[in-house]
Amino acid sequence: MNKDIGTSRVVEADVVVCGGGVAGTMAAVAAARQGASVVLVERYGFLGGNATAGAVAQFNSWQTGNGRKVVAGLADEVVERLRRYGGAREHDRFVMSTGHHMDRVEYEPEVLKLVLDDMVAEAGVQPLLHASLLDVQCEGRRVAGLRVLTKGGVLALRPAVLVDASGDMDALEQAGARFLELGGGEALQPATMMFRFGPIDFERFGALSKAELAELAARGYAQGGLARAALHSSRVPHSDDAWFNISRLAIDATDPMALGGAEIEGRRQAWKAAAFIAASVPGCGNGRLRAFGTQVGVRETRRVEGDHVLTAAELLEPVQFADAIAAGAYPIDIHPAQGGSLHYVPMDDDHAYQIPYRSLIPGALDNALGVGRGISASHEALAAIRVMTISMAVGHAAGIAAAMAAKAAGEGMGAQVRAVPVPALREALLRGGAVLA
Ligand SMILES: Cc1cc2nc3c(=O)[nH]c(=O)nc-3n(C[C@H](O)[C@H](O)[C@H](O)COP(=O)(O)OP(=O)(O)OC[C@H]3O[C@@H](n4cnc5c(N)ncnc54)[C@H](O)[C@@H]3O)c2cc1C
Repeated sequence: MNKDIGTSRVVEADVVVCGGGVAGTMAAVAAARQGASVVLVERYGFLGGNATAGAVAQFNSWQTGNGRKVVAGLADEVVERLRRYGGAREHDRFVMSTGHHMDRVEYEPEVLKLVLDDMVAEAGVQPLLHASLLDVQCEGRRVAGLRVLTKGGVLALRPAVLVDASGDMDALEQAGARFLELGGGEALQPATMMFRFGPIDFERFGALSKAELAELAARGYAQGGLARAALHSSRVPHSDDAWFNISRLAIDATDPMALGGAEIEGRRQAWKAAAFIAASVPGCGNGRLRAFGTQVGVRETRRVEGDHVLTAAELLEPVQFADAIAAGAYPIDIHPAQGGSLHYVPMDDDHAYQIPYRSLIPGALDNALGVGRGISASHEALAAIRVMTISMAVGHAAGIAAAMAAKAAGEGMGAQVRAVPVPALREALLRGGAVLA
């Protein structure tokens, strides 16, 4: 499988996944379980992306408001494994300030690192950690290879199928894929520096009503202590700490200067917010900031232009796609780049929508797929489908599809993601416990 040419080592694989966030890790595991040889490229020394480095710490929306399950499969397995390590709290349903129901599983990001390590190792995926994408080589509409920068120098990878799970769709951008533009008045959703705060007296903090929390948050925002008028947090399992999601950084995270600046500004905002919480929020008086996220969490950057562009209308009046490969129920939830508020379009209690396979296929390429928060969706639709539950479900589907495409690549005929038989893909997903509607 490996050979040396000149100074570069070349590694061939059926599937190379670029980016080890939750979407990429699920894609890699799913592909390997289908028997594909898989290399998973990740720039950090651990997997998880926003879910670990970004410390997002709660998986949202497994169900419709009335309790119909819409995400399962590999995503459920992640939660079961977290529980075995004691790293996830019980599934929790709550009423939001809009009066609608939402459900979530709060988890410990450090434990998720172990879970993803286990899943990758057991599936036989070759993890390539501390490896950053350098460039991608194409021959016409085909990705021929990519090069990654590692501690040992430049490594060349030759996949039959490339799955871009880098969030920012760095590999597809290098491969010359087309991307969707923001429309009139739209702006990228802001990034957030999560921070861990504790100890908290949850008896008192948890007893605060929605109205009391909203009043405290509005006061903190008006006084300049909070960058966002919210006190949104995830409790860390088996501890008196919570991860707070309340800073707001209006940047394009693919701009390296802006990204570095946001890390610094994010820590400043978090520090100020922690001071406000300790001084003003009941139950938090003994607390202090204990940790920052390893990096700012990024909600939105590039969205690839795929064979189908999923729109908000298709989520709100749900379209039954013949090539549906995942479902979701998370509402449209746009954090505006400026100001303290949220733009929120809630869904009815039995409302679920579907994601078509064609939204994973970059229009300009034949042997590549995109997964996670950069799939082919409008800005508004992405604001719903970006959550980790759905990202995992989409990754699960892409991994199986990539393995199928690689396996079907005949003599002299490269892998074709559009030739994947969708009924067989859907059957494989259902066998793996996924929900498609
Ligand atoms: C602040 C915040 C709060 C959120 N709240 C929630 C919530 O409460 N519940 C919920 O379910 N979802 C939430 N989300 C959404 C969710 O976390 C993300 O949309 C989701 O994690 C995206 O997963 P991903 O795998 O597509 O991308 P990412 O998590 O961005 O993963 C991309 C991976 O690729 C790697 N990578 C990137 N570029 C390269 C490169 N050039 N070379 C090598 N590796 C690379 C990264 O290191 C990373 O590991 C939130 C997001 C943010 C930012």
